[in-house]
Amino acid sequence: MPYKEEGSAPFKAISRQILFADPALKCELRYFEMAPGGYSTLERHEHVHAVMILRGQGHCLLGTEVRPVAAHDLVSVPAMTWHQFRAPPDEPLGFLCMVNAERDKPQLPNDDKLGRLRATPQIAAFLDGRPIP
Ligand code: MN
Repeated sequence: MPYKEEGSAPFKAISRQILFADPALKCELRYFEMAPGGYSTLERHEHVHAVMILRGQGHCLLGTEVRPVAAHDLVSVPAMTWHQFRAPPDEPLGFLCMVNAERDKPQLPNDDKLGRLRATPQIAAFLDGRPIP
């Protein structure tokens, strides 16, 4: 299914599959896959994510850090922490994401917040899809 409603937030070349959503679990397990050059929305929220990279490699922004990620890596996204996943130009990136069934609406960075994130050279390169210095 589509990742999000078109135009609701910035994202590129990413699909979403809901694998488990049993109300008794109180959580959902989804699979997201980005085509080469694709990325998820840069966002933060009160709910948390437990991510396992399943396919390919890429980078993730978590808080103020950019880290390389590859198959079988685990990523914990704490509450109210900026996060985004990006596939490299030549390879897809797929990951499992466990999330609370009941969750708040993601917040997007305003220009001020984005400017502060971009002050870190690694984050600016990450957001522009350039090699991370
Ligand atoms: Mn999120």
